[in-house]
Amino acid sequence: MKKVLIANRGEIALRVQRACHELGIKTVAVYSSADRELMHVQLADEAVCIGPPAPLESYLNIPAVISAAEITGADAIHPGYGFLAENANFVEQAEKSGFTFIGPTPETIRTMGDKISAIKAMKKAEIPCIPGSDGPLGKNDQENMQLAKKIGYPIIIKAAAGGGGRGMRIVHEESELLSAINTTRMEAHSAFKDPTVYMEKFLQNPRHIEIQVVGDGNGNAVYLGERDCSLQRRHQKILEEAPAPGITAKQRKAIGDQCVLACQKINYRGVGTFEFLYEKGEFYFIEMNTRIQVEHPITEATTCLDIVKWQILIAMGEKISIKSEDIEIKGHAIECRINAEDPDNFMPSPGKINVFHAPGGPGIRVDSHIYQSYVVPPFYDSLIGKIISYGDTREIAIAKMKNALREIVIEGIKTNVPLHQRILEDTKFLRGGVNIHYLENFCKNRAD
Ligand code: ADP
Repeated sequence: MKKVLIANRGEIALRVQRACHELGIKTVAVYSSADRELMHVQLADEAVCIGPPAPLESYLNIPAVISAAEITGADAIHPGYGFLAENANFVEQAEKSGFTFIGPTPETIRTMGDKISAIKAMKKAEIPCIPGSDGPLGKNDQENMQLAKKIGYPIIIKAAAGGGGRGMRIVHEESELLSAINTTRMEAHSAFKDPTVYMEKFLQNPRHIEIQVVGDGNGNAVYLGERDCSLQRRHQKILEEAPAPGITAKQRKAIGDQCVLACQKINYRGVGTFEFLYEKGEFYFIEMNTRIQVEHPITEATTCLDIVKWQILIAMGEKISIKSEDIEIKGHAIECRINAEDPDNFMPSPGKINVFHAPGGPGIRVDSHIYQSYVVPPFYDSLIGKIISYGDTREIAIAKMKNALREIVIEGIKTNVPLHQRILEDTKFLRGGVNIHYLENFCKNRAD
């Protein structure tokens, strides 16, 4: 592999480019006409404009991305996260055109991309799942009502094709059930072109804990420990940490080994994440992400591994020769996602960054594409960077993060830095192990 096309933008495109360059691999950046000034575009070996700002016409435009790879003679395509990363049709077309896709096979992506088939595959691999409808909901209202009663309210209706926190509806009582099913079906149809929905028990106070895995497609796989991503707003993660507070080495090994077995059963190739809800000491599978995740750096910090480089090496055919037991999980890492948004009302805040100063010091990593005078375009996700702190203990990682948030200067646009600062002062957060509703309530209490 000599040249990789990076089919993404922002911080992850820069992250992938850094890994490629470290491995001596050349890069091709593709960008929309709104993204000419992106840092990785400036630093790429070659760059191709693939269309106008609207994602459908550029970053999601499969023929444009594949043509760019052809014109520049790239060998492989790295999709980053979001955009085409979990689009099995894209992977098929890229592979048919002779490119190596840095990620799982299209079959795996297809199975995991549909939440119902993912749950089926996981059940077969003996991964614990949430009690639910065991497949799509039918049209029979009576049957659906009986099913919900049997599972027990509250329940959640979820779109099989859902993602990014969209296509979900919680139902507290029977009188709301049928209209919730219909609305979720309609939303799923318009958002994902697939009206299939299913039903799950709604866990009241779970934490979100996920396991990072790597498989080589030859039956070898390892787990790299867990991450606690319970701090979410509208199902979007805001702050993550590794390891998860209170999870014992025994629990980690038990769920990690199960994930590795599942990877072996489906012959998983690439990096991936098993997402679980965790309640009363039990893990329940919700979905598998078949790509690099935003929060991968906290696992890199606690394992001393470069997950993106590993991803590329596996696509080049490297076999995994170590065992999970050989991977030492050490210290504690925290990631704060920095979004260009109002910290009080969460409205996006694109625009020009007049002043930028990055935090630093031992144990601080900043993954960001922004720089002074960079203009954050209004067309994409509001994530403008991530700060990762690492220390021997959780207390040290928190202290380092507080320093970093005090040091960072971003002027010209609003960011959620003040929200992170408030979280890091909160006694419940400091105690560790808050559930997935914590942040939503935290924001609401402040608004009241
Ligand atoms: P997406 O693919 O959109 O990210 P997920 O299935 O991963 O959807 O769910 C996203 C979030 O929604 C979870 O992290 C959790 O906060 C909440 N959630 C999903 N399913 C349930 C459930 N059965 N009970 C409680 N919360 C849930």
